[in-house]
Amino acid sequence: MAPSIDWRNLGFEYMQTNFHVHAEYKNGSWGELQVCSEPYLSLHIGATPLHYGQACFEGMKAFNRKDGTTALFRPRENAQRMINSAKRLVMAPPPEELFIEAVKLAIEKNREFVPPYGTGASLYVRPLLIGTTPRIGLQPSEDFALLVLVMPVGPYYKDGFYPVKAKVHDEFDRAAPLGVGNVKVAGNYASALYPDMIIKKQGYPIALYLDSATRNYIDEFGTSNFFGITQANTYVTPDSTTVLPSITNKSLQQLAADFGMEVERRPVKIDECELFKEAGACGTAAVITPIYSITHRDKTYTFGEAGQAGETLTKLYNTIQDIQYGDIDDPHNWMEQAVRHR
Ligand SMILES: *Cc1c(COP(=O)(O)O)cnc(C)c1O
Repeated sequence: MAPSIDWRNLGFEYMQTNFHVHAEYKNGSWGELQVCSEPYLSLHIGATPLHYGQACFEGMKAFNRKDGTTALFRPRENAQRMINSAKRLVMAPPPEELFIEAVKLAIEKNREFVPPYGTGASLYVRPLLIGTTPRIGLQPSEDFALLVLVMPVGPYYKDGFYPVKAKVHDEFDRAAPLGVGNVKVAGNYASALYPDMIIKKQGYPIALYLDSATRNYIDEFGTSNFFGITQANTYVTPDSTTVLPSITNKSLQQLAADFGMEVERRPVKIDECELFKEAGACGTAAVITPIYSITHRDKTYTFGEAGQAGETLTKLYNTIQDIQYGDIDDPHNWMEQAVRHR
């Protein structure tokens, strides 16, 4: 099936594609990868993710590149992160090779949904791991399912790379210091829905969370990491047990170092926002969202000029995208071939 898709006007939304990939863990081992055309599961009503949130997921992108190949950005980092999330929730961690094979099969089976090079769009890949054993007394599942779904998504910034206003949530925390903030588990997102809704109603597209123990340090945004660029052009990002280790952030730190910038991973006090000339949110979906201002109680910190992303953020954003689309060299071998040449 050749989809008729307006590649240049895609959002970041669910879209049905041809197939998803499904693997089951039963009696202590993983079964074969299956390709399924129905976007529904037959799941027991007592399954642990439905009641107790025993579910974790990943998010990454595949790109049709300048040289005609299709490649994934750092998928082995996602594989390792899902292993960490799975262990934290007492789930069977999918071995790295199984994870990678499942992702590549899902892309292969949905080739025609990978947006053409030059459209600025990409294929979003969503691996999901869930418990499938019915449990009512709280116990971990014994059996699991690994699912991989894919869908084409647009660039976040169709109309340009504009900075947004952020606000610190004072009435809600995202994660407890030794809780599950550092793993990509479903429950972290359910608990952010209400605080995010309140912040949006107040006119701020994005909420920033402080560390819940002292409320003095920056943790991260609801679904993306925080970083700031100081007047001296140092890349600063919080080091905290509550922050989800973003692969985008890790990559931006490497690029900043490549540019000759200092990179600091350390606790970052909220009032250090005074020192930043640029600030950003980073994650797979948007890559970088430039932050124009951060409002904390009666104080508002601003970064750069309204309506215009800063120079360093723009350079980082362009470089990572150029690597992803194959417009420039990939000096750290971040791209992994997803399907063989057409
Ligand atoms: C997934 C996620 C991010 C971004 O991670 P990437 O690997 O860059 O996509 C940041 N914060 C949270 C809470 C996340 O769940």
